[in-house]
Amino acid sequence: MTALWDRLDAVDGVVGGTRFRLFPQMPSLQGFSRPETVRVSPPPGTIAPGPFDGAMRVVDAIDKPAPYTFPYMPPYRGPAYPPAEAGPDGHFDHIPLDDRRFLAAHMYGSVRFVLDIWEGYLGKTIDWYDPRDRFVIELVPDVAWDNAHAGVGFIETGGRTSADGEYQPFALNFDVLAHEVGHTLLFSEVGIPGSGGLTPQYLGFHESMSDLVALLSTLHFETIIDDLIDQTGGNLYVLNFLNRIGELSNSEQIRIASNDAHMEDLASLRLTADGEWIDPSGQGRKSHDLAQPLTGAIFDSLVEIYQDGLVRRGILPRDGDPRGWTEDSVTASLDRLQQMHEGAVSRHRAAFIDSLIEARDYIGFALAVAWHRLDADHFSFGRFTRTFLEIMADLGQEQNLPAFVENFQARGIGIAGPDATQDPPPRSTAYALRWAWAQNQRRQAASRPPRDDPDSHAEVYGMINHSFRVEV
Ligand SMILES: [Zn+2]
Repeated sequence: MTALWDRLDAVDGVVGGTRFRLFPQMPSLQGFSRPETVRVSPPPGTIAPGPFDGAMRVVDAIDKPAPYTFPYMPPYRGPAYPPAEAGPDGHFDHIPLDDRRFLAAHMYGSVRFVLDIWEGYLGKTIDWYDPRDRFVIELVPDVAWDNAHAGVGFIETGGRTSADGEYQPFALNFDVLAHEVGHTLLFSEVGIPGSGGLTPQYLGFHESMSDLVALLSTLHFETIIDDLIDQTGGNLYVLNFLNRIGELSNSEQIRIASNDAHMEDLASLRLTADGEWIDPSGQGRKSHDLAQPLTGAIFDSLVEIYQDGLVRRGILPRDGDPRGWTEDSVTASLDRLQQMHEGAVSRHRAAFIDSLIEARDYIGFALAVAWHRLDADHFSFGRFTRTFLEIMADLGQEQNLPAFVENFQARGIGIAGPDATQDPPPRSTAYALRWAWAQNQRRQAASRPPRDDPDSHAEVYGMINHSFRVEV
């Protein structure tokens, strides 16, 4: 184990924190009607009514007519519903689910839970945009709006009516909240491109990472891990609730992590200088669509680590590992594959759970470290991929690197990237990897240009702030 991996000991380390009840998935979904009790980092008794913990405050505004957009910004000064308050024991898990104040408690608890997870991966406290501004982050759980967004000093959520006619507030949708926190993490860690440094792939990356923040954070609920193993029989190759992100009902979801999107299909997508997406194909695609190949490649890599963990633990039969199979043989053996997994789960459940947690933490940690190392200016998926592979190598994942490379290349994401100064060699994946690392070393050795340009910040926020206006 490497020094990087040792830092993971800090993850899930909020023993003694304050209890909240959270819905890991939308409560209207079959099987998810009961919340799970989690602990968040502030000790019991330190969270004031709101909830308000000194950094974040929920303000449950009454009839807030519109979402914030510059120059309309926090703090909210209108009438508000009564704040959620801790019980005599300092915890917030006593609030009935049908009490209005549960909405505020759920929103705060979700945001703080996600922050705790990613501060664990990052090994440090996250600076929300710029702490020198002394912002208190405002969380607004109910805006008349069918969307959710994060901006400078706030996260606010509306809601949406699903196909079966039920109104679902996004403040109860952990996926949506975690996605918005994901955007704020990226603004803090990767930064905002300066003038002329913004690329379409930076915006696609934002959406992809925010989806993965949601997906990996969801995997920190014990009930989710149990349900996932049960529902899939331990076979994560099948479509499951985990890889459907932002799910609103059992039949409609906002995006699918386990997708087959390819960069070639998105090659015509353009971003104008003022942030408008142009899709010559007429499909109206934009950053969320550009995110799909990257999300897919990383999700496939998570499954790779998971599957590797199962094999390493010796709990699948020798011929039960589909990695390396041809597409035809996988298709022909789907039923047998499922039976083998289910048989092994019944005998070795704990090992399946361990493998899943291991895969979750390798990916989460690699993403967090990658954000810290990357520059927002002239961002490319290729540059991200090289950094990701480099970190995985540092973490001792050499045995899976060729498969990771294939996952990215299968989506048309070249590890060379458009910023490379020469073409990658048309050789084996192992050789291509060594070449890519050499390129990366050279790039890191070069001096970095200054990246901070306050004038462009509001503009980039504006391009991100339409996160859930996606057709379902
Ligand atoms: Zn988004």
